Amino acid sequence: MNKTITILPGDGIGLEVVKATTVVLDKIADMYGHHFDYQYADIGGAAIDKYENPLPQETIDACKNSDGVLLGAVGGPKWDNHPKGIRPEQGLLGIRKELKLFANLRPVTGHESLTDSSTLRKEVVDNVDLMILRELTGGLYFGEPQERRQVDGEEAAVDTLQYKKSEIERIVRQGFEMAKLRRKQLTSVDKANVLESSRLWRETVEEVKKDYPEVELDHMLVDNAAMQLIRDPKQFDVIVTENMFGDILSDEASMLTGSLGMLPSASVGSEAPGLYEPVHGSAPDIAGEGKANPLATISSAAMMLKYSFDMQEEADSVDRAVAEVLTSGHRTGDIAKQGEPILSTEEMTEKVLNAL
Ligand code: ATP
Ligand code: MG
Repeated sequence: MNKTITILPGDGIGLEVVKATTVVLDKIADMYGHHFDYQYADIGGAAIDKYENPLPQETIDACKNSDGVLLGAVGGPKWDNHPKGIRPEQGLLGIRKELKLFANLRPVTGHESLTDSSTLRKEVVDNVDLMILRELTGGLYFGEPQERRQVDGEEAAVDTLQYKKSEIERIVRQGFEMAKLRRKQLTSVDKANVLESSRLWRETVEEVKKDYPEVELDHMLVDNAAMQLIRDPKQFDVIVTENMFGDILSDEASMLTGSLGMLPSASVGSEAPGLYEPVHGSAPDIAGEGKANPLATISSAAMMLKYSFDMQEEADSVDRAVAEVLTSGHRTGDIAKQGEPILSTEEMTEKVLNAL
């Protein structure tokens, strides 16, 4: 198959991890007889430097005219105080909007050989394998902006949490579809004992459930879900939830594995290409030193193969290679224990190629 991939290296270690990932993608193309074309475009700080714009039109066009988008990371102290108030992160929010990405997927996979570095007990987190699906376009983040006002003679602020039924339905459907591909168990997280939007959420989930008799469904209140993620994360397969609950729960869950440099993510819509990126940021403290762990970005590319290109076998190969590298004890600085030899980004990438 021929696929065009837009590469947005962005800033800091974004450049390094993205480069490592294209090398892995090339190997996959070789192995399976595919052809991947890369078109590079600027985003974030790099684009501010060149165009005074974190998301130039050319970048938007390139993304729209491709089958998948791979992003490194954006941001860094260099752009903290731009005279015009332009921020690298606007590039990321902007491209999500342009591509109409409404679902953010974060798999949390605990590699047995790594869970020593988790703050939780090993038996709780070993082999955790769950997926959080967060709604991206609604809720508190996008409520009508309200003026500050006076209430009872003092200053007050209002945010609005609104969801249209259609917005709930499309994310929930994704959740069921995702569960169908995995262990067929969906947990819908809400706060239906307090919020009207959550009651609509819950009703809608029940309606969509009728189309998925094979998926086991349960509802969980968000406070309980936050607790259960720490108490017994292995009870979860797919969690689907609204924007802010998902923001909080996915950061919480990311710490189950104990290593930020390991976690991939995907944002998908209904038609436009998906956007794939590591959960970590641009890590300015180690940028340009060849120390970055490329595995989160490589795993993000595996998600692209699976969800955007329908290349399940190819994706599995990448995931297996990453797992094997870890089991063999290969470590970059962020996941190495005291005294363990530390690999560079390139050396780690080489190990993944060998495993493939
Ligand atoms: P952002 O605001 O973009 O999320 P951040 O400041 O919260 O960024 P990161 O840039 O992700 O966080 O970095 C947090 C810490 O984790 C830094 O010390 C960084 O060096 C380290 N880190 C992040 N990603 C990696 C990686 N891929 N490999 C090695 N270390 C990493
Ligand atoms: Mg951060």
